[in-house]
Amino acid sequence: MKILLQKVLPIILVLFLLGGLIFLRTEKEQELIRRDFTTMGTFLRIIVPDPTAEPAVNKAYEEVERINRLFSNYIDTSLTFEVNNNPGKAVEVTPEFIKLVEKAKKYHDKSDGLFDITVGPLVDLWGFYQQKENIPSDKEIDEARDLVGLQQLEISDTTITLPRKDMQLDFGALAKGYAADRASEVLKTSGFSDHLINLGGNIYAGGYGPEDEKWTIGIQNPRAQNEIDAVLNVSDAGVGTSGDYERTFFHEGERYSHIINPVSGRPVQGVAATTVVADDALEADLLSTSLYLTTAEEGLKEIGHDTFMAVKTDNDKLSYWVTPGFQKLLSEKRAPVRNAEIIDF
Ligand code: AMP
Ligand code: MG
Repeated sequence: MKILLQKVLPIILVLFLLGGLIFLRTEKEQELIRRDFTTMGTFLRIIVPDPTAEPAVNKAYEEVERINRLFSNYIDTSLTFEVNNNPGKAVEVTPEFIKLVEKAKKYHDKSDGLFDITVGPLVDLWGFYQQKENIPSDKEIDEARDLVGLQQLEISDTTITLPRKDMQLDFGALAKGYAADRASEVLKTSGFSDHLINLGGNIYAGGYGPEDEKWTIGIQNPRAQNEIDAVLNVSDAGVGTSGDYERTFFHEGERYSHIINPVSGRPVQGVAATTVVADDALEADLLSTSLYLTTAEEGLKEIGHDTFMAVKTDNDKLSYWVTPGFQKLLSEKRAPVRNAEIIDF
């Protein structure tokens, strides 16, 4: 879950700049709580349109930290670390841990095996954990590919076993969405059902914003930091974006991004971004990565979710696919997505 911060920050700034501009025009600006934190290798921003929310916001942040301590593959006291470092042993885990593994399994099946949380050895091989770019040999790719395969994982009601040494779980594609949902739950339980949570681009928009309108979220153009491709109005929904403009390196003019096709063993190419709106941030996070993987394979419909935008790329020329469900969420005050091809579901 370590992230190249300098590459992630611009997206988020833009995502919220838009909201910021809108808030500035309202007198309710002073009544907002807006807090920024650093956690899970990225930033967390929480906005609550109620000046008494400060203690609840701190509790929500603590909850995100708790999820990080459980799922991070860097923290040597996390459950993920324990599973990863005890091959062959049935490691006792929590119901929450099993729940996320089961969710990941569901999307593994839906994506024909492309979404795979055992992809760790490949992510590592390409240098994304160490933030050092690496172009591996075919032999190295084959060896790492051999260690990947969610079907090899042994799951009981209370334990997880990685059957082979050097296999590695990686919750990077879903833990932030889950943590955003948990933070939302803490705020709701404390009586603040109106809130906006953005954890490294994984958003949960609870209730309504300061003007009692739906929350406004701008989706950044994957090749131009200051351009907004789409503006969404959402309420009680999760929004997740996966992109090739964060955690990326260039080698001999080619772009290599952190989402890896476990079949080829290589970073996905041809997709610049996918943005998904779903009932919660966990589902949106799972879906955005799954659609990112299947867009390249033209397998979008198999996922069966009709609220997303996919941006394909061919030598940095972008083309857009938008579903009717996504179109309905676009702000009426803004122009629709340019040159979008509507995919009918
Ligand atoms: P996201 O930004 O939510 O799309 O998640 C991307 C992260 O998921 C990467 O940084 C890796 O940690 C992890 N990942 C990479 N490839 C895959 C894959 N094929 N299936 C599941 N997770 C992946
Ligand atoms: Mg994801």
